[in-house]
Amino acid sequence: MTDLIRSWVESANAPGTDFPLNNLPYGVFAADDGTMPRCGVAIGDRIFDLCAAEGDGLVTPAGHPVFDVPYWNDFMDLGHEAWAELRARLTGLLSEGAEPRPEYLVNQADVRMHMPFRVSEYTDFYASKNHAFNVGSMFRGSENALPPNWLHIPIGYNGRASSVVVSGTPVVRPNGQLKGPDDDAPRFGPSRRFDIELEMGAIVGQPSDGPITVAEAFDNIFGYVLLNDWSARDIQAWEYQPLGPFQAKATATTISPWIVTAAALEPFRIPTPAREVPLLPYLAEPAPMLYDITLEVGLTPEGGQETVLSRTNVRELYYSAAQQLAHHTSSGCPMRVGDLLGSGTISGADPDARGSLLEMSWGGKAPITLDTGESRSFIEDGDTLTLRGAALGKGYRIGFGACSGQVRPARPVTD
Ligand code: CA
Repeated sequence: MTDLIRSWVESANAPGTDFPLNNLPYGVFAADDGTMPRCGVAIGDRIFDLCAAEGDGLVTPAGHPVFDVPYWNDFMDLGHEAWAELRARLTGLLSEGAEPRPEYLVNQADVRMHMPFRVSEYTDFYASKNHAFNVGSMFRGSENALPPNWLHIPIGYNGRASSVVVSGTPVVRPNGQLKGPDDDAPRFGPSRRFDIELEMGAIVGQPSDGPITVAEAFDNIFGYVLLNDWSARDIQAWEYQPLGPFQAKATATTISPWIVTAAALEPFRIPTPAREVPLLPYLAEPAPMLYDITLEVGLTPEGGQETVLSRTNVRELYYSAAQQLAHHTSSGCPMRVGDLLGSGTISGADPDARGSLLEMSWGGKAPITLDTGESRSFIEDGDTLTLRGAALGKGYRIGFGACSGQVRPARPVTD
């Protein structure tokens, strides 16, 4: 495990910061002064303005500007050599002992974060065994909880890139078609069982045109974000058979604003859990490709205090993003720069390590008590749900920043 790399930006050396020099996560920010959103890198409680630095020739990853745009896709497109060179250059520029360049720093508190990349397409997987078992138990009974393919295939579905929003974006409670087991007929109205899903998102940084290996897939992943796949359980229960989720998952998917690079997470690689049945060779993991990243979920009622509902870890995933990406390409499916892969909800074995309210309240049968004394089975209007995550190093943390969204009332339904 490497030590903290000290920076001349003093706040980057504080033990609690998500953004020490070891991290260097990439985002898109804009000040309130009307300047266009641009690329920057988080360092402590500041942002190093890469657009300005590029304009002055301090960083030049390409023969043309790539940081004056509101997305990291053009930089990702440059490939591995450019990724490694920029990281080395920024480490040098921001290290303790280098010439301080405060003129390129912006306070994070003074800016608004935007989507860090253009989402080409979005696929969501289902890779935590505890989550799959819990949800399967509630929907189909414990006998049929785990689908017969689950230990063999990283199951996924094609989601909507248009639904992906950055942390801080309000989420309007969806209306949809609802039919409970005791209802005679479906009706249309606001979801009463609106929920979160605690996930990691992997960002594809290099294109592929045909099947690739797990090792190639690992190399093609540029970085990771926290991802909340907002889910309407009552809409889902009625619509999901036989083609899987559709409108239940199309309202919004919130991601954290900073792309934590695979390079920053390199010291935290771990293998996926032991296989319960052997995988087909094309899915075998040639080296540790999962990460040790702690995760938590918090709920803040409107005007109230946050309650941490759950704590878990990315190590609970049965399949890595590299295995999911390799499987995604196995049919010949082309992948593009900016493709986003959701890991699937991450749940540990313990009740306080579950990644959705559906599991925490066991379908509403065991409501959760908040620190304020209120109870919740699912999300209420005005609630803010926040995901946090960090890989814990020796005296530093590789944090993701908050992935947060407040739920607003559903649009009125007119007959
Ligand atoms: Ca999901």
